[in-house]
Amino acid sequence: MKKVQVSTGKPLGRIVCPQCGNDREFIELARDVIVTTRYVQNDDGSFTPQESDSEVLGKVGLYCSQCDTDISFFHNHLMEMIF
Ligand SMILES: [Zn+2]
Repeated sequence: MKKVQVSTGKPLGRIVCPQCGNDREFIELARDVIVTTRYVQNDDGSFTPQESDSEVLGKVGLYCSQCDTDISFFHNHLMEMIF
């Protein structure tokens, strides 16, 4: 069952930092990330990166970029709203 949302005048579903009111800039922080990069060594001894792949093993958090408040409880919302 979907919850009925009451209009507050603001656009619905926007993330707002509860600490400072910032609603523009946020930081996603991933811990324990394994980054794998494939290199090819060229004839002259230089290297060219071919592809890189990253895998997140740890917690992914979301922070306010203005005051650094941990707002990870909004992270699922952010994931759903990336277009
Ligand atoms: Zn903030």
